[in-house]
Amino acid sequence: MNANIVRYSVDTEGIATLAIDCPGRALNVLNREALAAIYAAIARAIADPAAKAILLASDKEDFIAGADLDMVLAITDAAELKAATLELHRYLRALETCGKPVAVAINGSALGGGYELCLACHYRVAGNRPSALIGLPEVTLGLLPGGGGTQRLPRLIGIRAALPLLLEGKKLKPAEAHKAGLVHEVVAAGNEREAARAWLRGRIGQETLQPWDIKGYKLPGGPVQSPAGFETFYAGSAMTLAKTAGNYPAPHYILSCVYEGLQTDFDTGCRTEVAYFAAAAMTPEAKAMMRTLFFHMNQVNSLARRPAEVPRRKFSRVGVLGAGMMGSGVAYAQAMAGIDTVLLDTTLEAAEHGKSHTRRLLDTRVHKGYMSAETRDAALTRIYPTTRYADLDGCDLVIEAVFEDRGVKADVTRQAEAVLTPDAIFASNTSTLPIGSLAEVSIRPQRFIGLHFFSPVDKMPLVEVIVGAKTSPETLAQAMDYVRAIRKTPVVVNDSRGFYTSRVFSTYVREGLMMLAEGVAPALIENAGKLAGMPVGPLAIADEIALDLADRVNRQTAADLGAAYVRTAAEDVTETMVNVCKRIGKKVGAGFYDYPAEGPKRLWSGLMRHFPSTAQQPALEQVQRRLLYIQSIEAVRCLEEDVIASACDADVGALLGWAFPVCHGGPIGHIQQLELPRFLAACRELAVSFGPRFTPPALLEKMAAAGESFYVA
Ligand code: NAD
Repeated sequence: MNANIVRYSVDTEGIATLAIDCPGRALNVLNREALAAIYAAIARAIADPAAKAILLASDKEDFIAGADLDMVLAITDAAELKAATLELHRYLRALETCGKPVAVAINGSALGGGYELCLACHYRVAGNRPSALIGLPEVTLGLLPGGGGTQRLPRLIGIRAALPLLLEGKKLKPAEAHKAGLVHEVVAAGNEREAARAWLRGRIGQETLQPWDIKGYKLPGGPVQSPAGFETFYAGSAMTLAKTAGNYPAPHYILSCVYEGLQTDFDTGCRTEVAYFAAAAMTPEAKAMMRTLFFHMNQVNSLARRPAEVPRRKFSRVGVLGAGMMGSGVAYAQAMAGIDTVLLDTTLEAAEHGKSHTRRLLDTRVHKGYMSAETRDAALTRIYPTTRYADLDGCDLVIEAVFEDRGVKADVTRQAEAVLTPDAIFASNTSTLPIGSLAEVSIRPQRFIGLHFFSPVDKMPLVEVIVGAKTSPETLAQAMDYVRAIRKTPVVVNDSRGFYTSRVFSTYVREGLMMLAEGVAPALIENAGKLAGMPVGPLAIADEIALDLADRVNRQTAADLGAAYVRTAAEDVTETMVNVCKRIGKKVGAGFYDYPAEGPKRLWSGLMRHFPSTAQQPALEQVQRRLLYIQSIEAVRCLEEDVIASACDADVGALLGWAFPVCHGGPIGHIQQLELPRFLAACRELAVSFGPRFTPPALLEKMAAAGESFYVA
């Protein structure tokens, strides 16, 4: 079995090649079997008298994608994880100190544990493949490099250069990795092994050591205990705390690994790293991040919720109605995915203007070296601006992104449907109008669906796929195929007010406004939101959305719901801001914040006049709890009402849709993290103090009574 994972051969020049090829997988990953095979091959190469030099390589398209997270997550005992990691360290150390020269041919991506293996080689050659990425991204999953990465990288390139790579988990393209000192040489794709061999040939017979094992080695940029070292750690610690607000343990552990480990000898440093690695992997934050960002994201992207019986559909030509902010963004995503786009607006000028958005984005990519000018030109020819509905002929799908106005949407639906073939799909990008009601004008409502993109489309990876009452399973399945074709993540949502993301996210903003009405100090509200891990405070978000728009939506909702509408103090605050204060948000430079031309935004000093703060302010923790728990409660209501199908969809949608703090794994993951009984008790208390919106949904009570939880771990 192991022999199949690493092919071992020694050529006539005495170069032993260890070619890694995990069977039955598209990528090499470091799982138990692969590690055992690599260890055995390393031991064999070291002991083999015929092997004068050692070459590590991959027989897959990429080098190694990283450690198998199933393996990491399955180990729930820190001592067991430490023992397994120490074994990895022993073999890597044996490899780099065996005296024989060791090179690695990095033929594609080398990430996490895969790159740590490269770091234990004396010479690293990378192939210049456009898709290849090199780096140590463990921190993005709540972990830290546990295979020596926090010790070898700073010893290789210096603390100052290594810390940002370790703390941000940035993945570099081969040329960037070369510039940063992560690899010695970049060669044309396909020539990696030969280049590595050439280096090995020149070293055969000479004892080869890592820089840090050579007598007289000095840490590049100076040691920890030096003015430069102090400065780096002061700045690094402050910046890390500012970014994490203490919510993410891993970056702090990384700082400790480097700070402590680089003041000791290499082997002691590695043991320090192992201790912090095991501690990080056991944190609830790491478990939540791995679960949502890796397992659940993969599940959603593999279209687990797609009606399986429907054959996959390819999309070669797609129409976009409305070349404004959203339509032009969709056109860009399609052009990048190789889909021909008919971009229709009321005037050719407007349609052309929409296309120029794609041109600008592509120019930036060319400028940064991510794309060739030829690829850009080819992508641009895929966008065809027009005003004529006849040009939609032959489209597999048409997405409307015209004004949020029922009349305009009805008009474009009728005109497009007159041209479309019976099996073409019509999708609306509406943000507020129920899909069922828009489908009423459709002559084929079973082919009508919602595709709710997020702004800016080129950056936001989520699309809510909204199923109307009459939408057919074929339409749903194929719409999901389309979302994957443009490399975005589809979350399936049933038709309901605010769909899923806007509905849950709005509870965060509303809670903030309600606190303001109660007399909680605006700075406390905003800081509590950010310290809880949300990217922006609720008042700042309300300003971004625009208060006049929120006011209009509130009034429309009240009219639609009639007696069922529950008005809260948040609506009073919005009305006061719009009608009394005449401050409607960021777009006019005046809302809850002032937006001076120079300098950052500041909370508006007049807020105190209209919403005076009480003398007794609540504790920060209570404000944070209200802002986060209300989102979890609403997400559970969405599950209860079948607005969203599963906890996994709810968590992925929250992370991608509105940047819910990833350290909790999502609003449902947060309940799991707190443990259901504790969450329930806290909600009951909040309900007594602040009202029935905090009353735990029946689903939670039922689950608690049955001793159930949303996730296994
Ligand atoms: P926008 O005002 O930037 O663009 C609308 C475009 O539609 C304009 O170019 C306009 O000329 C064109 N248009 C208007 N009537 C038309 C017609 N009859 N035929 C063809 N083109 C017509 O608006 P936007 O922000 O891109 O929003 C478009 C849709 O996307 C709306 O339904 C909105 O609710 C939804 N949406 C917006 C966001 C957002 O953040 N802006 C997010 C998700 C969804």
